[in-house]
Amino acid sequence: MRGNGLFGLLLAVSLPLGAASMFFEGARVIVDARRPPLENATFLVDNGRIVKIGKAGTLKAPAGARRIDLAGKTVIPALIDPHVHLGYQKGLSYAAANFTRENVIDQLNRDAYAGIAAVLSMGTDLGDFPFQIRAEQEAGKLGGALLFTAGRGMAAPNAGPGNAELKPSAYDLTTEDEARKAVREQVARKVAFIKVWVDDRNGAVKKTPPAIYRAIIDEAHKLHTRVVAHVYYLDDAKDLARAGADAFAHLVRDKEMDDESIALVQQHKILIMPNLGIAEARTHVDPAPWLDEPLFRDVTPAALVERIRAAYSGRTPASVEATQKTYRTMQRNVAKLVAAGANVGFGADSGAAPDYFHAFTTHRELQLMVEAGMTPAQALTAVTATSAAFLRLSDRGTLEAGKAADFVVLDGNPLADIAYTRKIYKVYLRGQEVNRTALRGAFQ
Ligand SMILES: [Zn+2]
Repeated sequence: MRGNGLFGLLLAVSLPLGAASMFFEGARVIVDARRPPLENATFLVDNGRIVKIGKAGTLKAPAGARRIDLAGKTVIPALIDPHVHLGYQKGLSYAAANFTRENVIDQLNRDAYAGIAAVLSMGTDLGDFPFQIRAEQEAGKLGGALLFTAGRGMAAPNAGPGNAELKPSAYDLTTEDEARKAVREQVARKVAFIKVWVDDRNGAVKKTPPAIYRAIIDEAHKLHTRVVAHVYYLDDAKDLARAGADAFAHLVRDKEMDDESIALVQQHKILIMPNLGIAEARTHVDPAPWLDEPLFRDVTPAALVERIRAAYSGRTPASVEATQKTYRTMQRNVAKLVAAGANVGFGADSGAAPDYFHAFTTHRELQLMVEAGMTPAQALTAVTATSAAFLRLSDRGTLEAGKAADFVVLDGNPLADIAYTRKIYKVYLRGQEVNRTALRGAFQ
């Protein structure tokens, strides 16, 4: 009894000192990218949550709260990228052998540094440790962007990921029974989604047949698990929509989407990830200006920055003509989907190919979405509220009272110029300031 009393006293004394709440003042806050921002806002963060938020003068700092002046800054909800491939690139090497706990955590830390609160690794995860990382994050024992995983994705033999290094991670399925068994195995491991590839890689492989992906979708839905489909061709997109796919990890890229396909994605409420960055990166002959941006250089190994720069020197206008044509089709499809009010989500696909590295890629994708015709508010909505809803992260994606205090403090207003998401002053995840200097020093 006496011991308990003493313990209670210690707690009562130590709590206000140890867990001081934070009172932020003066920033423009994009509470929810679907609505106008709060100018000159104040908000209180305690115990990992936004406790209150309102215009200046409507809230008072509680006694003992730390006051933090953010005058001139803009606060946005932290970004959520539901399409990445973690673990394969390490420095200049891109290989399955790099898929280690340390390398995945390193990439999650680069994401956190860049203001990304959560990612979904899309079907190329090997072994058990991604599930362990997730459990440790849930228990508050491990930082970085929250890791969601689609485990091992599935396709017909050799028809999975495009890159040879990723291929062994996918199931090679030849029968409907195998497909259903693969789904059951992955659902038993508590994957966030099932991933299926439907693509012939420009005629190089035999596409996953409709009977197989229908079995995958049917089995997954029976087990209350959603299915994300990699698509390329318009006709496959239509059939996948009819078969019940929940999201497309890419745009249709062979043709402009027609009215029938737009109606199908609307009718089935399919989330579409534009995924512009990989294709766009191949359309230029001159080195990209972002190669010299501080955020890109902070999160990307120096030798990799130089190899990416060097890659441009081997290109000619003729060699990029086909990629430009495909890219224009992709841009038009984004514009059509947005005009139709379709559920346009977000996914940068970082790590899907050698030298298509993590973290900055998420920000660059936002810029490309705006160049394709989305407003900055629409692009920000995709990477925050829409992605949170997609991952069923009900306490993320917006900054209302009660939500997780996951936010990025920027030096400028991304609603005026989306490139300001890359001008990061501070990052807060789960109510704590991310020590970006320490993280950067520890990048492998
Ligand atoms: Zn991918």
